[in-house]
Amino acid sequence: MTSELDMSSADRLTQPPSLEGFRDAVPRRLCTDCGVSRMADPSACGTACQFIAPEYAESEMVAHGRAASERPDEVHFGVHQRIVRARMAHSAEGAQWTGITTGLAAELLEQGKVDAVLAMVPSDDDKWRPKPALITDAADMTRARGMRMGYAPLLALLEPALEAGHKRLAVIGIPCQIHALRKLEAELGLERLYVIGTPCSDNTTTENFHTFLELLDDRPERITYLEFRADYQVELRFDDGTKREIPFLKLPISKLPSDFFPLTCRTCVDYTNRLADITVGYMGGTGEQWLIVRNERGEELLADLDDKIITGPVASKGKRESHVRGFMANVERAAGGLPLRAMPDWVRPIVAFMMPKIGPKGQEFARTRVEMKAIETVLHLRAAMPKKMRSMVPAHIWKLVAPYGLVPEKDEKPADDKAA
Ligand SMILES: Cc1cc2nc3c(=O)[nH]c(=O)nc-3n(C[C@H](O)[C@H](O)[C@H](O)COP(=O)(O)OP(=O)(O)OC[C@H]3O[C@@H](n4cnc5c(N)ncnc54)[C@H](O)[C@@H]3O)c2cc1C
Ligand code: SF4
Ligand code: SF4
Repeated sequence: MTSELDMSSADRLTQPPSLEGFRDAVPRRLCTDCGVSRMADPSACGTACQFIAPEYAESEMVAHGRAASERPDEVHFGVHQRIVRARMAHSAEGAQWTGITTGLAAELLEQGKVDAVLAMVPSDDDKWRPKPALITDAADMTRARGMRMGYAPLLALLEPALEAGHKRLAVIGIPCQIHALRKLEAELGLERLYVIGTPCSDNTTTENFHTFLELLDDRPERITYLEFRADYQVELRFDDGTKREIPFLKLPISKLPSDFFPLTCRTCVDYTNRLADITVGYMGGTGEQWLIVRNERGEELLADLDDKIITGPVASKGKRESHVRGFMANVERAAGGLPLRAMPDWVRPIVAFMMPKIGPKGQEFARTRVEMKAIETVLHLRAAMPKKMRSMVPAHIWKLVAPYGLVPEKDEKPADDKAA
């Protein structure tokens, strides 16, 4: 998904809402309220934040023992030992896919390897609004199942967890949260930390997400599930058990306000959660889940699930280049303030029908999405906050966009990323 750029959003300070049980957040220009600014020392944002000066190569060395190599799939997906398709042998009720993410954490609690897990549960008054939770009982991991759209201060629970004596933790988080966690990790004094990541793209406020649901269906309050699937369909499920599929091309994107996606998420530099021990997504899974096992701790997490999980090789089909180039042309128009080129109405159903047949699949679909996101990052940030290009765009993003003729302009080249 992409949207037109709202230049004014670049200049606004983001003031995350007051939340019961949490300190107020410090307003910042680019912020997804990961929780650091609600900790005892909010100035830690200066070193922790993905939107200030992310340091992937350095953090990869600490988390994985080495920085990402030049191998094409490491440029796309970050350091890994292997990438597999996977599903839980018994799909977990209420899970976004089959429940691998919450299953991994539940197993850690079950086996006594951690004292607590930090994860997101639904808010009491809105099932779509994420709320950070400290979970100590494996059975309670069921509460965290499912994807919610929005931001919530997950890492603000680190200090309460330590105060409660929990020294062995697991954290489930999206990439901007995990970047900050890794930067703070050494100072936390933990005995053990397991990092379970999911990919993340096109996140927005929960309020904006409700607007999107209202545009999708005339019974939005009855929608219980939404997913952007790898077969170019959005799947909706309703509380009466019915389902609906909408091809991406028929989504009401042009009806969304121009600042629907905050600048943070349009300029995000890490789609696949490069600093997690294991990333649990679906993009390359051809209909199943997709795991990027990054280091020995990721292997340990997977091994612990034993026969509760079924894994297999990933597939790959199609060619991404023309799709990525077409997408880039649209982003160039949007980032330059021009309206997106509208496809004639009569063409839409034909292309929507053809995409699942001709579009990239499996690993090639995942590479396509990662390159598209990297192009968005460069073009939107260059248009909205050009002075941040040098400090905020890491080397792996430049490598991803280079085949499309996007190279750092004068003063944009990263200074100290060792992967450069
Ligand atoms: C905003 C968002 C965008 C995503 N985009 C993609 C994508 O483009 N491609 C892709 O492959 N995967 C994406 N994912 C991840 C995808 O949803 C996961 O693969 C999926 O949740 C894992 O399925 P599961 O059945 O294993 O998870 P479950 O076992 O159901 O567990 C879901 C986990 O997600 C966490 N969670 C839910 N909402 C949030 C939130 N708002 N912030 C932080 N953590 C949350 C919960 O803590 C829980 O542990 C996205 C996730 C989010 C939150
Ligand atoms: S570190 Fe987290 S809280 Fe601080 S500015 Fe960045 S996203 Fe916001
Ligand atoms: S898209 Fe990036 S910045 Fe936005 S919530 Fe997801 S990880 Fe954070």
